[in-house]
Amino acid sequence: MKKNKTKLLAAGVCLALAVVIIAMSFKEESDGIEDYKGEIAYIKCFEADCGHVEEMDLSEYYQMIRDEYNNFESSVECSKCGGRAMRVNKCPECGFLFPNGAARRGYPDTCPECGFSQTQRDRE
Ligand SMILES: [Zn+2]
Ligand SMILES: [Zn+2]
Repeated sequence: MKKNKTKLLAAGVCLALAVVIIAMSFKEESDGIEDYKGEIAYIKCFEADCGHVEEMDLSEYYQMIRDEYNNFESSVECSKCGGRAMRVNKCPECGFLFPNGAARRGYPDTCPECGFSQTQRDRE
């Protein structure tokens, strides 16, 4: 009986900690979103017969997926056809649009067309 109580207490402490951590990360997210104002997010539709690309403010995009999808990795609804759309990178070198990790080598933002990566450039 005593053992069970200890276990229960440990679980309670863990739960309290988890709540604190979640609350802290939520605070960071809501505070951080405004920092992205002015950056452009490119949302590309992956439906074969649509391919619509929408530009929106990155802070608005983060706000939208936080409020409507509650998941920062989620795909979103295409504003034109209602199909599956996702945020993509735009290569600053050649303008090619691609999702993170599309090149399957280098960095997540390595362009599969020309091999340019802003992350790599920043590190050099
Ligand atoms: Zn579409
Ligand atoms: Zn490129």
